[in-house]
Amino acid sequence: MSESLEHHLQHPVFAAIAKAAKQLDQPVYVVGGFVRDLLLQRPCKDIDIVTVGDGLILAEQAARLLKPSLTVSTFKNFGTAHFNYEEYDVEFVGARKESYSRDSRNPVVEAGTLEDDQNRRDFTINALAISLNESNFGELIDPFDGLADLNQKLIRTPLEPADTFSDDPLRMMRAIRFSSQLNFRIDEITYAGIEESAQRIKIVSAERITDELNKIILSPVPSIGFKLLFNTRILHIIFPELVKLHGVEFRDGKGHKDNFYHTLKVLDNVAEVSNDLWLRWAALLHDIAKPATKAFDEVEGWTFHGHEFLGMKMVKPIFRRMRLPLDQKLKYVQKLVQLHLRPIALTKEIVTDSAVRRLIFDAGDDLEDLLTLCRCDITSRNQEKVERFKRNLGEVEKKVRDVEERDRIRNFQPVVDGQEIMDLFGLSPSREVGLLKNALKDAVLDGIIRNNREEAINFVVEKGRELGLQPVN
Ligand code: ATP
Ligand code: MG
Repeated sequence: MSESLEHHLQHPVFAAIAKAAKQLDQPVYVVGGFVRDLLLQRPCKDIDIVTVGDGLILAEQAARLLKPSLTVSTFKNFGTAHFNYEEYDVEFVGARKESYSRDSRNPVVEAGTLEDDQNRRDFTINALAISLNESNFGELIDPFDGLADLNQKLIRTPLEPADTFSDDPLRMMRAIRFSSQLNFRIDEITYAGIEESAQRIKIVSAERITDELNKIILSPVPSIGFKLLFNTRILHIIFPELVKLHGVEFRDGKGHKDNFYHTLKVLDNVAEVSNDLWLRWAALLHDIAKPATKAFDEVEGWTFHGHEFLGMKMVKPIFRRMRLPLDQKLKYVQKLVQLHLRPIALTKEIVTDSAVRRLIFDAGDDLEDLLTLCRCDITSRNQEKVERFKRNLGEVEKKVRDVEERDRIRNFQPVVDGQEIMDLFGLSPSREVGLLKNALKDAVLDGIIRNNREEAINFVVEKGRELGLQPVN
């Protein structure tokens, strides 16, 4: 007998569910992720409730006991109901039994017992339940030894892996995701099952795959998940562009770095300093065009000229295929991929204020993130080299801060705009207006004039004269 978990279920929400279940005479349990996370002492705000009976009626009754005005949303098609109470998101479902047939992707679902419900769950650590019933409130119900697997940090399917993965191939990615999130090992037999069924991931929708992929990207050490995806060959199906980064080619005894493992190192580095999903995506994609731009030059050795530009171009089709947002987030990732070499390039020349101003202008509000990406992009086995590159980048960052402080260029807008230029010369919208606007912007960014009205107007008038234009008064 395991000790009672009652002391973990002190929140009023559990008492209300227990009371409602007793009134309705329906056995009730907390199951799945909440129980797993509670035993791992990870905070979890999603509570999944299973009852042997009608989940919708139980949800209504529990909600009434908690607060008469609480809204319950019900999803009749799925037989689930849901409410929010304080910090918790509570979902109710009637215990069910699932059977899959070979020729249909969708399971036949019927009412079942708690045991049936535990049987259809993906991993032993996700099949744990805690009773909320009066007779044994707080008792752990663990048919597959999930507690032992939690202690051993092991991902294992309760039933035959082949059947589990064939019923829902997304479970293969879930196994890898949990392994990455929790730093758990995947049991050998389960792992062999994934290798065997990898191809079946093809039948899963892009949205579900991307959800898991994002959770892998957001895990503390994302490379754990990506190496598993690669080794099981799931990555070959869902993300072939990344697989192409793998491997090293030699010519005249010269090799280049393995861009797959380099990319994963950069992603892990970013993960250490930022939880932002999109900065992590930028890390994952920063070198994505290296295979397509790779060339060998007698003098220079291996080159990847223009990979930042082609890489930027590759982001959108990847985002579209993966059903990732095509809005500001896409633009942000594109921008970081395109600019990822710029700060480093600045360390290799004499840094002019003009070059620094242009970098600040081009990166805008994403400048800090760009510098973070660059710092994380410095990977080498040679620690001395890493330190030297970091010092150089530090110099650039300092310069950026100095120039930024002095010129406030980040959200730079010239003090004289297109309309004023047209008024000045009595022009209608035309090529000349564009030319003058650009010349003005360059003059300010290059430090030829300062960004004030007087200097800007003088500059535009003079430039206009060079183009044969006359100010109207
Ligand atoms: P997280 O909430 O961190 O994504 P979770 O394990 O709670 O992890 P959910 O998707 O919230 O995952 O699902 C809750 C529970 O439902 C799981 O713990 C598991 O028992 C079960 N479950 C979810 N998806 C599947 C699946 N594809 N196959 C079998 N059981 C599943
Ligand atoms: Mg959950």
